[in-house]
Amino acid sequence: MTAEIISVGTELLLGNILNTNAQFLSRELAELGITVQRQSTIGDNHDRLADWVSEAKDRCDLLVFTGGLGPTDDDLTKETVAACYGDSLVFDPEEWEKIVDYFTRMGRQTTPNNRKQAMVPVHGEKIPNAHGTAPGAWFEQDGRCAVLMPGVPAEMKAMWTEQVRPRLLARQNCTLHSLTLRVLGGESEIEYRVRELLKNANPTAAIYCKTGESEIRITARAASDQDGEAMCRAYAKKFYDILGDAVYDEDVPGLAYTVIHTLEAKGMTLATAESCTGGLIAQQLTAVPGASNVFGFGFVTYWEQAKSKLLGVDLAVIRHYNVVSGPVAAQMARGAREASGADLAISVTGLAGPGGGDEVRPVGTVYIGGAAGDSVWVEKFHYIRLGRENVRARAAHAALELALRLLQGKAPAGCCRLAAADCDHPQALDALDRALIL
Ligand code: ATP
Ligand code: MG
Repeated sequence: MTAEIISVGTELLLGNILNTNAQFLSRELAELGITVQRQSTIGDNHDRLADWVSEAKDRCDLLVFTGGLGPTDDDLTKETVAACYGDSLVFDPEEWEKIVDYFTRMGRQTTPNNRKQAMVPVHGEKIPNAHGTAPGAWFEQDGRCAVLMPGVPAEMKAMWTEQVRPRLLARQNCTLHSLTLRVLGGESEIEYRVRELLKNANPTAAIYCKTGESEIRITARAASDQDGEAMCRAYAKKFYDILGDAVYDEDVPGLAYTVIHTLEAKGMTLATAESCTGGLIAQQLTAVPGASNVFGFGFVTYWEQAKSKLLGVDLAVIRHYNVVSGPVAAQMARGAREASGADLAISVTGLAGPGGGDEVRPVGTVYIGGAAGDSVWVEKFHYIRLGRENVRARAAHAALELALRLLQGKAPAGCCRLAAADCDHPQALDALDRALIL
């Protein structure tokens, strides 16, 4: 089945709003196994819309419209598309009652132009709108169809999920099952490694880039939900075979969620010591319901005095190695662990910029520390040309990644280890500093 998405609205052409509807629908249609051949945007203009629809309706099976279902004169999608499909509109008293009821509940009064929203197809079908006033519409001619949904994203998404998607699935005689893999690492490298698996027709697999990680969404179309689940599972195995433990979880909202749940499963607690991330890690951890079971101490130590006073970082070490250095990250993690009594502590010190960098320590230099058992680990990162917000976001993600790996007993390859007892030992700190610079 092939489709085109047509977004209607002059505001879109003027650049006043971003066309998020088209992005959402493209992704959804791809999951249904429907090939999207084109996205187009047309202003609120009858003739141009009519011309475009007459052309587009014969070159694909399905046209998906959003926008222009409202009550005002410039909302003309319904009547224009109806005419193109040889249909017309009729006043629907039942819809009108719903609209009046909706307005009453909102404490408002309808105006005469609201009656326009109660116009429904004579031969096609109306699509109920449980979240707004304008019903959608469905037109059909010679086996080809058009579906019209509101422009307001929340209304459109609800109508799509509750009404349109099930119709399209029924047309194809199938159900849909999805599985999302969370993968540590950059999108381009991961995409390269799994590129052959992304070309499949059913299940489909798509990769989406997130901060410090990627999401692989596998979607199967099948006769039953059970079959769909089995197909997704079998296809996921192919990804595991290639990516191994870079896949850190399935169907979870993000890394902080997995860290919290791994801590819970192991009966362990975590503390954080943050400098350049300013509490971002603590914020992400506490966004997870149940975080208080395992996370109790989040130190934000922005000043050197704070690092010294709260975490026991030696000011002489800061002066000698720089506040953005491996030895300081190590002492921060060790100090957070001791001050909190947590089983595991992670730390971040870095230069988020835009000012302050030099040749040795350019903006984007970040050290991440982790303290657990009798060891402290430190990792160094260079987030070059990312900008302040992205450096902070990447640093927070890297710290959570280190936490997860330490919980799994798998310190990352690029990490340097130091005995916790050696965190004040000049030779050990020197060795750590050298190892991280090399
Ligand atoms: P209304 O009843 O509000 O008039 P409508 O179905 O006629 O709804 P539009 O008037 O085209 O839809 O758009 C309403 C609002 O929805 C716009 O102001 C805009 O904020 C949002 N919107 C419309 N189209 C899109 C789109 N393609 N992507 C994102 N937002 C959109
Ligand atoms: Mg409108």
